[in-house]
Amino acid sequence: MAKITGNEVEFNTLELNLAWEKAISLENVDPNKIKMCYICKFHMLKENYYTDKTADILYWTVDLINTKQPELFQSDNLIAIHQGCLIFRKKPNAAKRIEKIRKVKWLYDEEFHQ
Ligand SMILES: [Zn+2]
Repeated sequence: MAKITGNEVEFNTLELNLAWEKAISLENVDPNKIKMCYICKFHMLKENYYTDKTADILYWTVDLINTKQPELFQSDNLIAIHQGCLIFRKKPNAAKRIEKIRKVKWLYDEEFHQ
């Protein structure tokens, strides 16, 4: 269960893994290493988990899919997202948006990212 101290939420390894699994996969790369941010459609690297010491905008953190549900930190409500993209989410419930994106086949552009 996520630990909440003041404004800080600390997720345990299981929750981080569940949030990562929920993120959109790119068909041509290893989902254990690379996934896609549902907001900006750029990739995230699993090893780049956000901590206070690593404040890079492309690092990922955990987002809540539905910010209005009673059990906010329930495991199926967690999804990995870029730290810098948290401010770009619009509706309180992003579930439909995420499922729409999930239906599309996404590819990692290896040439572009070299
Ligand atoms: Zn993003």
